[in-house]
Amino acid sequence: MRTPLIAGNWKMNGSVERIRAFGDAFAGDCLPAALDVAVIPPFPYLQAAQQSFDGTPLKLGAQTLNPEPAGAHTGEVNAAMLAEFGVTCVLVGHSERRQHYGETDADVSRRAEAALAGGLTPVLCVGETLAQREAGATRDVVLGQVAAVMEPLGASLARHLVIAYEPVWAIGTGLTATPEEAQATMGDIRAWLAGRDAELAQSLRLLYGGSMKADNAAALLAQPDIDGGLVGGASLQIDEFYAICQSAG
Ligand code: 13P
Repeated sequence: MRTPLIAGNWKMNGSVERIRAFGDAFAGDCLPAALDVAVIPPFPYLQAAQQSFDGTPLKLGAQTLNPEPAGAHTGEVNAAMLAEFGVTCVLVGHSERRQHYGETDADVSRRAEAALAGGLTPVLCVGETLAQREAGATRDVVLGQVAAVMEPLGASLARHLVIAYEPVWAIGTGLTATPEEAQATMGDIRAWLAGRDAELAQSLRLLYGGSMKADNAAALLAQPDIDGGLVGGASLQIDEFYAICQSAG
């Protein structure tokens, strides 16, 4: 049985005030017990979040990491630094980093390995662009991105990953993949995993991301291969994010 996971990727948004408001709103036993919830704010808010989320069910995530252990990498942050602030999961391969910051599959793979070595759960983001979808390449693109990270990993490490399928054309556009479209690709991902290791395929959590909102979350989460959501814009509003969490319980 896979525990659902709802993760809110704040991207380059938020404030200390908003962190505190989330900590207050999620205090106590307000969420379904069999549900993991993570908030993924920008780096400068990690310390405030660590304090504000203490005693709440909210886990803390980070948006990226540098794979090097230390050294002359101005502006970068490594896995050990994230762990020091209570971070438990970290996004790798988000499409915005692939598109705007030139991250290749090889970079993403190194980041995932560094996260695992540092005891963090990498949330591997994969997804096709609109042009790739229209060219009928969705399956090849997505499975290629999955394979680039999963293939070098042994089974004992691979089971610590989470995979988020985020069709690029659905991110921040208000266009959501239909539950059937999302399920088709996520079923392909699970089948690919099963081809490697049946147990891994059964246990690994697959999240959908791309304009997930309170009013479409339940239908997406009802699909057999969707175990949660990676939520962008809607994760910035307490009520909206809370409602999405409730539909995953
Ligand atoms: P939106 O929910 O704003 O479309 O963003 C999705 C996303 O990129 C989460 O990582």
